[in-house]
Amino acid sequence: MGISFKDKVVLVTGSTRGIGKGIARAFAQEGAIAVIMGRDASLAERVRDEFIQAGWKAEGYGCDVTNPQNVGEILDKILDKYKSVDILVNNAGIAKDNLLVRMSESDWDEVIRVNLKGMFNCTKVFVKGMLKRRSGRIINISSIIGITGNIGQSNYAASKAGMIGFTKSMAHEVASRGITVNAVAPGYIQTDMTAQLKEEARDEILKAIPLRRFGTADDVAGVCLFLASAQAGYITGETIVVDGGMTI
Ligand code: NAP
Repeated sequence: MGISFKDKVVLVTGSTRGIGKGIARAFAQEGAIAVIMGRDASLAERVRDEFIQAGWKAEGYGCDVTNPQNVGEILDKILDKYKSVDILVNNAGIAKDNLLVRMSESDWDEVIRVNLKGMFNCTKVFVKGMLKRRSGRIINISSIIGITGNIGQSNYAASKAGMIGFTKSMAHEVASRGITVNAVAPGYIQTDMTAQLKEEARDEILKAIPLRRFGTADDVAGVCLFLASAQAGYITGETIVVDGGMTI
């Protein structure tokens, strides 16, 4: 993309695979220090090693975003080695789909806890340094489902719509300190999360995508690079849809 993030520290939650890994990789390729995070510490370390072998800069930590103490410990570890976290990408997310009448309370709670509370925990911990330095970028990975809704995804849709409301509120709160907060709403992106879809369901979805293909992690990563760049300095509180035209 030609935008350099040389030695900027970018923390991407849920970056041990899928979209998060793609976002972390894109920043690392542009010179950033990519902080890889997921609940599985050994996987986070493996991805870190993979990045370092590719000639990029990376750190890797096990962290559960639903645990605020755990998130605080990661900040301490980062600050032991670096001055700041410059860019936060709240990407960690899960889905536990079911029709509302069949949805268990625990499936409702868990999705809200990871997708919404996890974003709250991470933003609260990492925005403090940004406020002090009067600069920073926060990018929240929502979903088109938070805009359109979907059968069997009331918990997921509520969490992803919540992320958009949170993004707007945070954008107001921190604008005077030079921090921008935006959301990205991907459509159907090929990852573990969508791999569970049945063949017929995949074909139906494909028919509804004007660009006639599923998205890739790189499609989402490119928008994150832009939103974190100086070129996007006058954009805040926005949600950018990356869905191949599915919701037009
Ligand atoms: P994925 O392949 O399932 O990866 C999810 C990542 O989040 C993994 O690294 C996972 O690692 C981590 N994670 C899950 N729970 C966590 C927790 N409590 N604490 C820390 N890390 C956690 O999912 P994906 O498809 O890449 O999706 C990434 C984000 O994009 C999600 O927010 C999702 O809602 C959103 N999105 C995806 C699509 C799509 O089509 N795939 C579309 C729209 C939006 P561990 O399991 O090891 O913790």
